[in-house]
Amino acid sequence: MEQEGGLMNVKPIKLLPATKDYIWGGTKLKKLWGKRADTPTIAECWEFSVYPGSASVVDDAMFKGYTLDKLLEKHPEFFGEKLKNYKKFPVLIKLLDASGDLSVQVHPSDEYALEHEGELGKTEMWYILDADEGAYIYYGFNRGYTREEVASAAANGSITELLNKVFVKKGDCFAVPAGTVHALCRGVTVYEAQENSNVTYRVWDYRRKDKNGRERELHLDKALEVMDTGPAPMEQSANARTVNGNTVRKLVKTEYFNVKEVRITGEYLMYSPDSFQVVTVADGSAVFDSGAVAGKGDTYFLPAGQMYKLTAESAVILVTSL
Ligand code: ZN
Repeated sequence: MEQEGGLMNVKPIKLLPATKDYIWGGTKLKKLWGKRADTPTIAECWEFSVYPGSASVVDDAMFKGYTLDKLLEKHPEFFGEKLKNYKKFPVLIKLLDASGDLSVQVHPSDEYALEHEGELGKTEMWYILDADEGAYIYYGFNRGYTREEVASAAANGSITELLNKVFVKKGDCFAVPAGTVHALCRGVTVYEAQENSNVTYRVWDYRRKDKNGRERELHLDKALEVMDTGPAPMEQSANARTVNGNTVRKLVKTEYFNVKEVRITGEYLMYSPDSFQVVTVADGSAVFDSGAVAGKGDTYFLPAGQMYKLTAESAVILVTSL
């Protein structure tokens, strides 16, 4: 290890996800995004996670056997000064393959979730990595409704008629603040940055049964308490700017995470003085100055305060920091 001005010079650190297999998962994360799991299908890859029991694994000779939470414990300096502003670790990054529809759901705010669940709430963002022809999502309501109208539509199974149905394509981006009712639907592959929380209130699950013949639990009462029943938030249409020949789109900035998309054609320098950066390749492949190759679907952790260079003929990367 080189020492420079007291700061260790650390190469980009590759992360391997904790994988989850839910009833709506498919085979795309294995076949198209290079992911591995013992299960035949994968619903979610938790690419950047310190969540208890579901932490990502560090795939690096120097930190052999580490999970991301252990890296945080041993090398808090890698994560940067900004992290000290948070009582709980703020962000979790996932890839999702919706081979079936996800339940219609809503997440609470921090205030509500800390009081009722002892966890953070969940504000999230989606970046569409890929979408089948005709694929759509549900994103908020198609107009304002009363809580009574929503409650009776959820009870009689007509709730999707009240939702804002949005057809999606690769590269589309949505901010999903806590309280926004939503569902990812069949045929979308998504990059999701979210608060580091697992609190979901299910509103409607299409009366589906799991392999044991049971319907999954709904949480309509809590959902109605936290839900914004006004019309859907504005969709994100981020402005692109060109930086040294590369195109940068600032996608979503919240108090928990900051996500941008970079189209690299040539060289791209990455430096963040006070926060870590997490790089996931959405298209193509790129090479770090360390020689590490970042292929489609790979996620790398870049410690704070160090300079990195990525080189690509043509690649699209997503970069999340605090
Ligand atoms: Zn959600």
